[in-house]
Amino acid sequence: MIKENLEEVEQRICEACKRAGRDRSEVTLIAVSKTKPISMIEEAMEAGIIEFGENKVQELSDKYEQLPKNLHWHLIGHLQRNKVKYIVDKACLIHSIDSLRLAEAISQEAIKKGVTANILVEVNVAQEESKFGVSVEETLPLIEEISKLSNISVKGLMTIAPFVEESEENREIFNKLKQLSVDIKTKNIDNVSMNVLSMGMTGDYEVAIEEGATLVRVGTGIFGERNYNR
Ligand SMILES: *Cc1c(COP(=O)(O)O)cnc(C)c1O
Repeated sequence: MIKENLEEVEQRICEACKRAGRDRSEVTLIAVSKTKPISMIEEAMEAGIIEFGENKVQELSDKYEQLPKNLHWHLIGHLQRNKVKYIVDKACLIHSIDSLRLAEAISQEAIKKGVTANILVEVNVAQEESKFGVSVEETLPLIEEISKLSNISVKGLMTIAPFVEESEENREIFNKLKQLSVDIKTKNIDNVSMNVLSMGMTGDYEVAIEEGATLVRVGTGIFGERNYNR
């Protein structure tokens, strides 16, 4: 089933790229495997997937230990400062930086481990109360501060769009994040590249691609519905 789902997602990504006049190679699919067992991840690996997304530090670490080291793990969920030490050398990209204090903790841990941490700043474009992330206005000032820290590299922006019935409703959100990233890129800040835009989930990744997403995070569309009552 996972193989068939991946084929469908792949086809939809290709079509969205075509509609937007973009090359397929500009978009990377992250298979969001949170709550799903190792066996399902292995099935996705057999279909050629190496990028996986998890929203919890503990779960990412467990899966990282159990699976081949050629996989790329993306931390897409909220990160607490006291968990930074467990994740810095395991995640290829942390999508959810939303404060200078968190970035400082990551910088310190990265120095200690002798690595460079790649991060995205999470922007709450829709200003939903329930969501993490900084406002559009706070984004540039935060990035300017983070850019002064050692061993941390800002690759771009991430947003979680609202849950909507019609994906078109989120087009404006994605467009806003794209505009913000373009604006920040023109500032040419040290250690800030702004080439990555992480946006779009199962319900809206095609619209996100049309608006410039370079990373789409698809869980349900690949692995099926999640059951949180295990
Ligand atoms: C769970 C999750 C996803 C995947 O959601 P689906 O709707 O299942 O595709 C994407 N991004 C984040 C941040 C998530 O927590």
